[in-house]
Amino acid sequence: MSVKYKVEKSEKLGRYLVAAKDIKAGERILSDEPFVLGPSSDTSLVCFNCYLPLINKFLVCKNCAVAPLCPGDGCPDEFAKYHGRQECDVFRNLKLTKGISPMTMVQNVGSISVLRALLKKETNLLEWKLFMELETHLERRRESNVWQYYDNTVKFIQSLGLLENGQNQDLVQKICAAIDVNSFEVRGPPIPAIGCAEILRGVYLQAALLSHDCIANTHMSINDSNVLVCHASVDIKKGESINYNYTDPLKGTIPRQQHLIVGKYFKCTCTRCTDNTELGTFMSSAICPGCKKGYITKNGDMWICSDCKKEVESKDIEHKIKCCSDKLEVINKKDEKELEEYIKYVSLVLAPSHYLLLDAKQRLAGVLRDTINREPRPTKKLMVRKLALCEEILPILEIVSPGICRTKAITLYELHATTVQLAKKLFDSREMSGSAYVDELLKAEKYLKRALEMLVIEPGNSPEGELCAKALEEYRALKVTISKIVDSLHAQGKTFGMDSMTIEETENSTCLDVD
Ligand SMILES: [Zn+2]
Ligand SMILES: [Zn+2]
Ligand SMILES: [Zn+2]
Ligand SMILES: [Zn+2]
Repeated sequence: MSVKYKVEKSEKLGRYLVAAKDIKAGERILSDEPFVLGPSSDTSLVCFNCYLPLINKFLVCKNCAVAPLCPGDGCPDEFAKYHGRQECDVFRNLKLTKGISPMTMVQNVGSISVLRALLKKETNLLEWKLFMELETHLERRRESNVWQYYDNTVKFIQSLGLLENGQNQDLVQKICAAIDVNSFEVRGPPIPAIGCAEILRGVYLQAALLSHDCIANTHMSINDSNVLVCHASVDIKKGESINYNYTDPLKGTIPRQQHLIVGKYFKCTCTRCTDNTELGTFMSSAICPGCKKGYITKNGDMWICSDCKKEVESKDIEHKIKCCSDKLEVINKKDEKELEEYIKYVSLVLAPSHYLLLDAKQRLAGVLRDTINREPRPTKKLMVRKLALCEEILPILEIVSPGICRTKAITLYELHATTVQLAKKLFDSREMSGSAYVDELLKAEKYLKRALEMLVIEPGNSPEGELCAKALEEYRALKVTISKIVDSLHAQGKTFGMDSMTIEETENSTCLDVD
């Protein structure tokens, strides 16, 4: 694979990646092994070799007599292993010289990433140096609680005698900071048959250089071997920065910025953050109390209506929004009725695409999906409502996550599934004509095809990869169904010009290139 990016440096962004050539949407930009990987909390124990959660018992490594490992048959073959020979020897030495016990490790499981990062200094000096060049915001952390929080890690590393003369606790704090600021969330290996997994954090040295933008141009996935793969989500021109959204694109500007300031120590000034309307989505806006049509958005100390230009005091409207936010916290988000009521109530105050409403609408679509899939004869009303919700969410996703996007792929898949179900129900009950039925199926096919084009880059064993396999089966079956119905309509002597042409066209076009 030719190099698709280069590293540049700027005052504002530090080191960052730019496209070394034109990159097409869906093209792989980089793939990256973790420099270091570990649990994101110090509360639950994981196997030091494969990161499976250790629920009630564990074995201790036979060689070093220190590292806690999977009991029974040991670590499953399919998972990547991290307690290698070199580390094992270091641990064994620590046991002999420092009296380290398995309990020391159990009590410090949250510091394993820091320890492993530090050991890289001996085993991979090149990577260690790159790691030490990552952004840390060390001086800002020095005054905050997080400095004290890592005191235990500092003490643990000191107790191992791994700090050379002259190195002080700042080195450990710097490692903690580099991990905090640069890590990606990684789903650990799932316990066979149970499925639960630990959430891990991994530092990827190339991907760590991706700058942030609230409208990103990449799509990230991490496969079963914890390899991170970054694809372009939209076309990227040579010389453009390659960026990734560190926050949730479905949140409004205020929570996104809070997240970035607390976790990453910077204030985002991207096109979305500097536009009060959030690129016309009005994702943080409220309905104007004056004209009741326009949306008011925050503009300095006031909120101003986009339509009638009325100005509203910040404290009034912000209090109302806070109430809407608090209410969402307390309702049962798995209950259809409570979600519907919330949406109805909050729609009187907030713009239809406000992030709180979108959150409730997404959850409701999920609840309806489960009900529809569970019930033997789901009602038309359920399906119509779910379709409407998906149709509301999709255009917002197109703006805030242009191109390839996991949530969008799932939304399109759901749109397809319900379109097919509803059309079949209506056709079977003779409420829909044969040709209208075909039209609906063709519409569903288009949704599904777009979903597949995005899902196809997901790793095979991830939930999205599994959805991709299922969607592909359904895509093939749907095409067969459509041509059968068209044939029977032809047999009945119905003319069907436009639609049959569409079918022919899709059948001849090279569909998806799936490995
Ligand atoms: Zn294991
Ligand atoms: Zn060992
Ligand atoms: Zn931004
Ligand atoms: Zn107004």
